[in-house]
Amino acid sequence: MWRSMRERLSRRMNITWFSLVVSLFTTIVFHAPLMRAVVEGDASWLIIASFVLLLIVVNFLVTTLLLYLGRMVGRVLMAILMIGNAMSLYFINTYEVLLTRQMMGNVFNTRYSEASAYIGLDATLYFLLLGVLPALYILLRKVDYGTLRRFAFSVVASLVAIVGVGAANMNSVLWIDRHATTIGSLVLPWSYIVNSIRQYNYVCMLNRKPILLPDATVTNTERDVVVLVIGESARSANFSLYGYGRDTNPLLAADSVMALKARASATYTTEGVKAILSHKPVKEYYEALPDYLARAGVDVVWRTSNWGEPTLHNVARYEGVKDLVTTYPEAKGDYDEILLCGLSDIIEEAACAKQLIVLHTSTSHGPEYDKRYPKEFRRFVPACNSVEVSKADRAELVNAYDNTILYTDYLVHTVIEALRACEGVRATMIYVSDHGESLGEDNLYMHGMPLDMAPREQVDIPFIVWTSDDAEVREDMTTVGHYHVFHSILYRLAVDSPVYDASLNIFKHGE
Ligand SMILES: [Zn+2]
Repeated sequence: MWRSMRERLSRRMNITWFSLVVSLFTTIVFHAPLMRAVVEGDASWLIIASFVLLLIVVNFLVTTLLLYLGRMVGRVLMAILMIGNAMSLYFINTYEVLLTRQMMGNVFNTRYSEASAYIGLDATLYFLLLGVLPALYILLRKVDYGTLRRFAFSVVASLVAIVGVGAANMNSVLWIDRHATTIGSLVLPWSYIVNSIRQYNYVCMLNRKPILLPDATVTNTERDVVVLVIGESARSANFSLYGYGRDTNPLLAADSVMALKARASATYTTEGVKAILSHKPVKEYYEALPDYLARAGVDVVWRTSNWGEPTLHNVARYEGVKDLVTTYPEAKGDYDEILLCGLSDIIEEAACAKQLIVLHTSTSHGPEYDKRYPKEFRRFVPACNSVEVSKADRAELVNAYDNTILYTDYLVHTVIEALRACEGVRATMIYVSDHGESLGEDNLYMHGMPLDMAPREQVDIPFIVWTSDDAEVREDMTTVGHYHVFHSILYRLAVDSPVYDASLNIFKHGE
């Protein structure tokens, strides 16, 4: 039997058949999530049939073009794409993600230590069975490339079919327009190729020098310090301060903090952090709050255990976990409390009267919630410690997530304690999350849904404020957002700026 199979494999396969086999494999195996999305999007039978036909024809055409024109180079390229498709499918199926530009940004920004958190048995199986195996077939199968005439016939026939499908769907334009983001993010490999290029352009844009804001001035010499704690993937629904049934905020509950209702203006880190540090929603790259204040003479400290921050140009003291572990070897470097080391000293040794300290945390970052807190915070048990969240027991997943909120409660409370202990300083603490998180509601996990489609779990975020002088929050601040941070901090540091927008300052003006 083996011999006959070997003989058959050693015979050359006609390029048309080979392209058809590859195309059918790609369509059936890698586009099940796309077809599911099309069907769930209430598409008509015409649209569903058109998608199937289009996928087969386009994949056939591309395979034929790559093989005939590229020969071995074409095969290597196809083999690489096969592996790319397999891994993309794993992420789509496991985390229900859409491979949008933003998601590709998340992928490129993920450090190895984080990436390894995603790799379990399933990922390995996807990689080997759906990636490596078909890649080997593509590389090794002998193919009869045929004549130029047959090649031309295949290309023309495919193009005619594509035009025909397009013409039949003239009336589907509205449907396609409405579902463009979802569809575009599920067509493999185009989703990750096109969106990677778009992300690359976006990053190039971000690395440009920012547009400077008009100069700001510090208007008095009183000692003011603001600590801005940026949360990661924290959703307000799981904070007892926001009415959650479990006591996840035992410490903050006794701290007389104000918990404002808030909505994120993004569902992923880079855009969420950008919004927190921006004076208004802008597409262009404007000077971020830390740079702006540093230029105005404010002492700015940035500490981070996270990523996705805009490039900061003026902040003299920028410390990542590695720097902090070197400075504070006795601290627990694995958890976010390392960001709090020596906080009182920093405030005491401030270079000037006004000070902004930003702590960019990563406490509720999935999928391994259980690894984000020391074991004494594993209070809700059993806590899920699997990387494959979609297979995890939901209750256990929520337990692990709630423990991260419990740990956040401890971190923010510790910041407030440190501020309370500082004498002669008027202090403000603002804790705000970059976006929320899905924990299996509607079968969604993590975050990153396009904002207009995002469920409230990914959008409703905590916005917690504490001040040493019991400053009051305005009554009309019923729902706030990321852009309130910039103006409220300007106000509390007594910084005067032409871009200051009083309507976005959450605090009541003093007499
Ligand atoms: Zn984030």
